[in-house]
Amino acid sequence: MIARTCAAVLSLVLLSGCGFLPGDSDGTPRSRLADAVADARAAVEAQVQQAVEDARKQQEGGSGDIGSSRAPRVDAIRTDTNTRFDYDEYTQTLEQVLRSLQEYWKTALPASFDVAYNGPKRYAYYRPEQQAGPSCGGQPAPRKNAFYCPDGDFLAWDETGLMIPYYVQAGDFAAAFVLAHEFGHAMQARLPQREKLGVLVELQADCFAGAWSRHVQDQGLLQAGDLDEATLAVFSARDVPGTEFTDPAAHGSGFERTRAFTDGYEGGPKACYPAPGEEWVVRSR
Ligand SMILES: [Zn+2]
Repeated sequence: MIARTCAAVLSLVLLSGCGFLPGDSDGTPRSRLADAVADARAAVEAQVQQAVEDARKQQEGGSGDIGSSRAPRVDAIRTDTNTRFDYDEYTQTLEQVLRSLQEYWKTALPASFDVAYNGPKRYAYYRPEQQAGPSCGGQPAPRKNAFYCPDGDFLAWDETGLMIPYYVQAGDFAAAFVLAHEFGHAMQARLPQREKLGVLVELQADCFAGAWSRHVQDQGLLQAGDLDEATLAVFSARDVPGTEFTDPAAHGSGFERTRAFTDGYEGGPKACYPAPGEEWVVRSR
């Protein structure tokens, strides 16, 4: 759903529609493919649990803000799927990604749309099993998701339920993509024209993430596998096949999300706004 309306409409389904993952509360039967994906995810659960345990040991506390000052610069956004989880390295990667997103949109927003840039006010992570995340418009922070909250202008993510699992299972650029997608919602909030269809809001955020990805590629910061990691991220977060494109919680099929991401990568922010809905939405979903 449209990011700005989430602050006001206050439906949990709509709030989850603002996040990175589609809502799963619409009663749609799971397909065999979805079951297979769930099984595959369960198979690596032990690895993720270990990473989460490591994270807890390395930094106690249930939630916090992620800053931009203390991390040393790392030379490249790592792209290999992690074989070893290092919490500090993970945190530094996220901080580097957020700095890069700020730097990119500071130029791209005025250059592409003649709109003044100001960055989100805050970035916050949470561990719902320890402490509730920041609420948005009176709604609790969702588990296993990330979101942009227009009411307060901040990004937030479930660290133990979403970000670390993505980082470990799919790679660091999968986690980067989640941040880039939510940052895309923050940029939408600064643009005058809003898409009415929820799925187009989400695909536009994917497209903006693609535009940023091209920027870091052009800077030489991506390595082999990074773009596949982003694609893995969108496939992990795709709609259950058969989801109506009018569903307010729809985020797009894997095909549609990949298409929008690629359009942003190829054409930059202007290819994303206004959203080319006739091209992006495949009717036989
Ligand atoms: Zn979203």
